[in-house]
Amino acid sequence: PSSLSSLQPAKAIKPIDRKSVHRICSGQVVLNLSTAVKELVENSLDAGATNIDVKLKDYGAELIEVSDNGIGVEEENFEGLTLKHYTSKIQDFSDLIHVETFGFRGEALSSLCALSDVTIFTCHKSAKVGARLVFDHNGNITQKTPFPRQQGTTVNVQQLFYTLPVRHKEFQRNIKKEYAKMVQVLQAYCIVSKGVRINCTNQVGQGKKSSVVSTTGSSSLKENIGAVFGQKQLHSLIPFVQLPPNEAVCEEYGLNATGMPQTLYSITGFISRCDHGLGRSTTDRQFFFINQRPCDPAKVVKLVNEVYHSYNKHQYPFVVLNICVDSECIDINVTPDKRQILLQEEKLLLAILKTSLVEMFGSDVNKLSVNQKLLDVAGNLKKTLPEETEKPQVQMLPDSETEKPSCEGRKIITLARLRESFSLHQTPESNFQSSKKVKRQHSSFRQMSLDATLSTVRTQKAALTKESENCHNSNMSIPSRHLRKSEDSADSGFCGTSESDAGCSTPEGGSCVNSKSVINPEEEFCSSEKQHQNEHLKTVGCGERSLECDIQVLGAEPKLNDWTDPNKLPQETNSSSPRVKCFKRKSFKSEASKCPEVKNTRNSVPSVDVLVKVKKKTVPLEFSMKVLTEKVKKVIQQQQKSTETQNYRRFKAKISPGENKVAEDELRKEISKEMFAKMEIIGQFNLGFIIAKLNSDLFIIDQHATDEKYNFEMLQQHTVLQGQKLIAPQDLNLTAVNETVLIENLEIFRKNGFDFVINENAPVTQRVKLISLPTSKNWTFGPQDIDELIFMLSDCPGVMCRPSRVRQMFASRACRKSVMIGTALNMQEMRKLITHMGEIEHPWNCPHGRPTMRHIVSLDLIS
Ligand code: ADP
Ligand code: MG
Repeated sequence: PSSLSSLQPAKAIKPIDRKSVHRICSGQVVLNLSTAVKELVENSLDAGATNIDVKLKDYGAELIEVSDNGIGVEEENFEGLTLKHYTSKIQDFSDLIHVETFGFRGEALSSLCALSDVTIFTCHKSAKVGARLVFDHNGNITQKTPFPRQQGTTVNVQQLFYTLPVRHKEFQRNIKKEYAKMVQVLQAYCIVSKGVRINCTNQVGQGKKSSVVSTTGSSSLKENIGAVFGQKQLHSLIPFVQLPPNEAVCEEYGLNATGMPQTLYSITGFISRCDHGLGRSTTDRQFFFINQRPCDPAKVVKLVNEVYHSYNKHQYPFVVLNICVDSECIDINVTPDKRQILLQEEKLLLAILKTSLVEMFGSDVNKLSVNQKLLDVAGNLKKTLPEETEKPQVQMLPDSETEKPSCEGRKIITLARLRESFSLHQTPESNFQSSKKVKRQHSSFRQMSLDATLSTVRTQKAALTKESENCHNSNMSIPSRHLRKSEDSADSGFCGTSESDAGCSTPEGGSCVNSKSVINPEEEFCSSEKQHQNEHLKTVGCGERSLECDIQVLGAEPKLNDWTDPNKLPQETNSSSPRVKCFKRKSFKSEASKCPEVKNTRNSVPSVDVLVKVKKKTVPLEFSMKVLTEKVKKVIQQQQKSTETQNYRRFKAKISPGENKVAEDELRKEISKEMFAKMEIIGQFNLGFIIAKLNSDLFIIDQHATDEKYNFEMLQQHTVLQGQKLIAPQDLNLTAVNETVLIENLEIFRKNGFDFVINENAPVTQRVKLISLPTSKNWTFGPQDIDELIFMLSDCPGVMCRPSRVRQMFASRACRKSVMIGTALNMQEMRKLITHMGEIEHPWNCPHGRPTMRHIVSLDLIS
């Protein structure tokens, strides 16, 4: 831009021609596959359709076609159909207040025309025969032919984004991700559209069409949920019961309880029960609607998850919530996709939600009914326990004990009653045992849970900083949506370590509470080793280039000029520059082996040439060289000084939990992988730490933490989990999309010990059956872990990842395998531990978050 302005005089300000404006803006209306499909489905719904078919080819990259049986388009509207800001839904701004249609901006079809090849087939209610309309990129009709069809409209969009070449490439590259997001959006419309049958299929290449989602046109929200996610999902849900906000909550939100419009909001929907195991491992099934319009009300989302977390710490709820509010109190026209909605009295809404959810989760109703059942059937447990629906409830009881040890007395009573009922009625042995087993598993789970929380939060944060591009590096990256949520919850303290496991007294727990603040240090690590190296390269690179020049001059001088002090200069060269160079060199992997001396001699040839030439040219060289020498000397001295101070300052962080992040950043920046091999081992300290020296820096290394980290990373990378075959294949009730994700990433599942039989010919959602689960001593895995993997993989297809619980398991295994504090180590053993540090990706923390290494002192500072 600057070169432009310097070349030409200021230009007159003129309007951009309309066609260009159109192309510029269309890409902002239709952002991605989701918006394209969303807009078309919304149009069909607006047209009163009861039957909508969405047909995709190659996940939508090739073709998106939405057909409906709506009212159709009248002939006189053909022209306006695809013109910018032409709509049949509002006439002026005031209509916006009462708008009840999804669309009203008249942008979607016109934008789609600008971005792709659009053909529309339509037959209006009143027309005798339909029409086929082909449009150009400006939304003008280029062909119009009669076309027989029943009432309704079909919009056919080919090669979305092909008019924007860069976006098109990007779109095709990320098509699976786009597709996964689109399905998520489509599911929302499927759920909320009562009485509308929506069916979506996808065809890859010339393959078979496969169903993506389909609903049956039921008039109930619940049945729609069942159609999208399977009947089984319904068992874990409770209906939302709305209550007026209570006093405490009003106070929290600064609301005046008396002056509030009581009936402003009316909320309906479903949410997971809060018993452990009944939620989900990710936020993949959360749908919020305002007046039936799918949207992302950030504060509501956050609140719902927070309240849920306080009852079921490790899971996220399934949520479908429809918030009905007078249309005068909302503004939907905030963003073109209308997913951000401004609400009047938002605090009131939050207060209602909080009061209601707390009551729903906290009330006795849930627990009592469970308790009741158990008492009733105590003598006859066999009959009811194996039932699908009952199982989780049984699990819930031991769980509520372990999960919330400090909870209200009533839960203890519940438990006491449970025990009583078992002992009074002489429960069949097997059932009793299984209940005990569940409990044991949970308490061991609790032991690990803290570590898990830590490590998940950490990796999640790490993954967060890493843009999706870099996913291939991280086998632990967690999809962004999940991330956002868990970050939220971390912020709000729900994942906080000290809080979550305050009652935990295991040694591991203890160490982790100490290292609470260690969550941060690794935060950026994953993302940034490369980046840091690059930065390093940039900053050091420049400095180094200038140094090299100095050396060339100096190296050549003594040979040529006897009048300069021959002793002084080379000495300086050796004592300052090469050292700096040597140190810095090491951070460049490619050149790490080159030595400055070698460089010197190699470079001396061209520098001789230069100087000879200079000498020849001017007679008063002698004089000027002296000055030059002096100057060079000064420069070098200055540089030496500054590098020395730099050396002193390289490690500034204190060894204290509060400075873990800074300390780690320093280490990450200053210590590259190959430096570990060059460390000199001074000895062992206090049978727990290794003292090592690198140049003039002394480091202290925690022998247990570092070994643990190494073992952990090795387990992560190389372990193929053993699967345990199931007696009978188990249905998973996956959605069509999740099924596809699973089928496409089978190898990753197998490495994690999950195996499946796949029946390509079975109806979608029943193609996959689980036949093998990973097992390992007292760790059990199940469908939730599969869900979690699917969620990760839909964001980063094909990238090796592990369910968080597998990571927990590895962490605890690694811990047990590693050198303990208190063990004397010989030189060889210490050398091995330090060499290992150079072989792993993240050597700065143990999997539980404890720091592995700290800088103690720079010897330069002492001398
Ligand atoms: P908007 O939905 O904001 O009005 P669109 O560009 O999506 O803008 O659609 C423009 C117009 O085309 C709509 O107002 C509607 O009258 C008509 N239209 C679009 N899709 C359909 C459809 N599937 N059935 C009937 N009419 C439609
Ligand atoms: Mg529209």
